[in-house]
Amino acid sequence: MPVTIEPDEEVIDAPDESADDLDMGSLWGRCPVCGKHLRPRDKNTDVPAPPPVGQGYRSRAKCDRCHSVIVYIGKGDWVVWDGRGA
Ligand SMILES: [Zn+2]
Repeated sequence: MPVTIEPDEEVIDAPDESADDLDMGSLWGRCPVCGKHLRPRDKNTDVPAPPPVGQGYRSRAKCDRCHSVIVYIGKGDWVVWDGRGA
């Protein structure tokens, strides 16, 4: 009797950016790990804004797609956090 092998459910990394995300993402950069357009928010006011640069915890963010902890280095560029800094 033939055996049908069902493929495992795939997690497809489909682009989910709207045009709005593209606009904002072009200003604030992409996740260096998965390439998602980032929309950072101010930790205090929750207003969409890039974090300050070079301020440890305040400069970090977490990608909501791949959950990498990343650090804002300015000009729309992010790097993966290396675990250093307060
Ligand atoms: Zn990511």
